[in-house]
Amino acid sequence: MTDMAAAAESYGLVIGGREAPGNRGETRNVLDPATNQPFAEVAVADTADAHHAMEAAEAAFRESNWATDDGARRSKALLALARLLEERQELFARLETRNMGKTLRESRIDVGFVVRTLEYISGLADKIQGETIPVPGSRFDYTIREPLGVTVHISPWNYPLLLALRSVVPALAAGNAVVLKPASLTPLTAISFARLAHDAGVPDGILNVVNGPGGAIGEALVRDPRCRSVSFTGSSEVGLKIAEIAASRLLPVTLELGGKSPVLVFPDADLDRAARGIGQGIFGNAGQMCWAASRLAVHESVRDALMERLKKIAEATKVGPGLEDGAEMGPVVSREQEARVLEFIETARHDGGKVVAGGGKASDPRLAAGNFVLPTVVADLPAASRVVREEIFGPVLAAVSFSDADDAVRIANDTAYGLFASVWTRDLATAHTIARRLEAGMVSVNEPPTTFPQTPFGGFKQSGVGFEQGLRVVENYTRRKNILVNLGATKRKA
Ligand code: NDP
Repeated sequence: MTDMAAAAESYGLVIGGREAPGNRGETRNVLDPATNQPFAEVAVADTADAHHAMEAAEAAFRESNWATDDGARRSKALLALARLLEERQELFARLETRNMGKTLRESRIDVGFVVRTLEYISGLADKIQGETIPVPGSRFDYTIREPLGVTVHISPWNYPLLLALRSVVPALAAGNAVVLKPASLTPLTAISFARLAHDAGVPDGILNVVNGPGGAIGEALVRDPRCRSVSFTGSSEVGLKIAEIAASRLLPVTLELGGKSPVLVFPDADLDRAARGIGQGIFGNAGQMCWAASRLAVHESVRDALMERLKKIAEATKVGPGLEDGAEMGPVVSREQEARVLEFIETARHDGGKVVAGGGKASDPRLAAGNFVLPTVVADLPAASRVVREEIFGPVLAAVSFSDADDAVRIANDTAYGLFASVWTRDLATAHTIARRLEAGMVSVNEPPTTFPQTPFGGFKQSGVGFEQGLRVVENYTRRKNILVNLGATKRKA
């Protein structure tokens, strides 16, 4: 497998360094969410393919020297992947947009994030080390960190390349062999990336990608006796299922699940900046973000002023095909997702919410064939409404007002989730005291949802277990071994 052909129309399973059709020769059409027209075909794995991928990964782990070589070799390979991806940034971005729908600008940012992740994590591959521990007597004690073996990664469709690679890269850095199952809707960039591995110096079989239905293939991978850990990003429902299977096998898991993240706007906030940030936090990626800032609580004294700004921003957002110049918000990923989002909007009306902006499908006849939903703001829903409580994964903001800081914190924490929260204020004390009281794995102050490869990403409560990214992420994919050496009985001189 040599150069990647991101524009290729046909994609296979990548197992053991070969790209090939699945065991049964089954394929699936990949649709462009802007038109719902097929533009590529992808092989679909069955459980025999899943087991074949696990077998190939384990063989590569045992037989290549990926795990045992100096970490500098893995570091170089990851840096080489960064360069190969960077050279093809535009190809990958276009492919991502075509497959997932997000705007080209957003896809470019995503691919850039993956390049940075590869660079950042590459620097950690040769810094995986243990410690020496003082113990009594003539003994020497030390720990080492070993790779786990074969790690399984199951990724979602909202950031297809970014969220797949976010856990795959540190697992590779630690010396593991990886089997990745991308989301069935959006497997193309992950497969294209795997095509680059050989040229970057990654041994065949160390990075495998099997596309196939989650219920069958995802579960088969997690249940496979060769699986040593699972990293999953997706819905809380599936995350719980995976956690149950993993628990029955005592497998370590990292689960990055859903959210219903609050934005708190205090009366002293810069309302123009806040409104722009809130717009980015819910209309970015057409709201299909685990940490979408989908619940707004604004102080009652500035409620009307902020809502006016949000209405303007929502109505001015240019909705269109992601590849089109000037498009600011693309379609949602599928017809099913569109139906789900529209159903939530209907529920909002039914529950007495006031639709301030948007409120349905885009009416432009040019967009009729695609999955285009208008940026939507709904005010004054009761706290019990499903629209306030459940993850929508679409461009729908639910807004309420609060009376004081305690009220704001109560509203913010009144959710089963705990992924992200943001606070808009100019007051330092408010910023820090409120940030500490919020039950969320990530809090931002005067900033929409923003992350970097070096900052940990993870949630509390139903939003998940463990974290991705950050300096310590490579440890997720290692196990610690303690080694105690008796140096022989040496008599102490009196
Ligand atoms: P899922 O959680 O179903 O899918 C995420 C990944 O898990 C996909 O690769 C999927 O495969 C796989 N999968 C599905 N079922 C299983 C299973 N039983 N065992 C192992 N793997 C499985 O999300 P959906 O795509 O169905 O989206 C539904 C909702 O989930 C969204 O509307 C949104 O609310 C939430 N979601 C949250 C995300 C996040 O980032 N936190 C990301 C995506 C969705 P396949 O694609 O083949 O089904």
